[in-house]
Amino acid sequence: MSLQVPSSLTPSKVSSFKECAYAFRLSVIDHIPQPINSHTLKGTLAHKCLDRLYFDFPPESRTIEVARAIFDGVWNDAKISGELDYLEQCEGTSIDFDELAKDTMFLIEQDFIAENPQKVKALGTELQLEARVGDMMLRGIIDRLDLNPDGTITVTDYKTGRVPGVMQEHDRLAGVYFYALLCEQVLHVIPDTVQLVYLRDATRIISKPSKQSLSALLNKTGAIWKAVRTACERDDFRPKPSSLCSFCNFKILCPTQSPA
Ligand code: SF4
Repeated sequence: MSLQVPSSLTPSKVSSFKECAYAFRLSVIDHIPQPINSHTLKGTLAHKCLDRLYFDFPPESRTIEVARAIFDGVWNDAKISGELDYLEQCEGTSIDFDELAKDTMFLIEQDFIAENPQKVKALGTELQLEARVGDMMLRGIIDRLDLNPDGTITVTDYKTGRVPGVMQEHDRLAGVYFYALLCEQVLHVIPDTVQLVYLRDATRIISKPSKQSLSALLNKTGAIWKAVRTACERDDFRPKPSSLCSFCNFKILCPTQSPA
């Protein structure tokens, strides 16, 4: 029996399908909810704080003190909304919330080392873009889009993990190139630069997309879309065991992980 084809492709869906089609199916087609963990919650909170810092405040007022005040508000919201309690439920153990708050604030402070927030002219944050290309719908949320002094634009994507090795760096850049492709399709502008800001290591990885690189990415994305459609038609999503299985939320449902 054919399965429902997903309505769109995003950078995370592309990388999920490439990493393991079976996990993709459980998450994207079957919509099996995934629990949060301390790492994902820190990432969500740090993204929220940086979103507000760059969107709500003009460049000259973006100081660490302002970032701390934003964090206090975001942390309080997380408490009131029950997000912190939900984390404890998901982890099944008590959490050292003081440590979690400290480490999240550390990630935000690291942005002030990786770049100078007072020199950034943000055109927008958390920008949702979508473009139809042929029979594909491409979607993405850009963490930050900056206007450079020479009138060009830069796409910024925050990462809360460590700077990866060369192979994984290529995969991470593919995600931010996807956003550049969306800018080309929706805004009709190719960004001059895309950058990954690795908050924990206060490091930026910068790359310059070209018309050719975006055209190649569009072709690859089209091939993935075709593969997803075929997998849905045939109901054929195979597990692909790898080192990523240790972090997979679907181990309990995966035939490769059943006890012998
Ligand atoms: S445990 Fe590994 S093979 Fe199984 S679904 Fe997860 S990533 Fe795929």
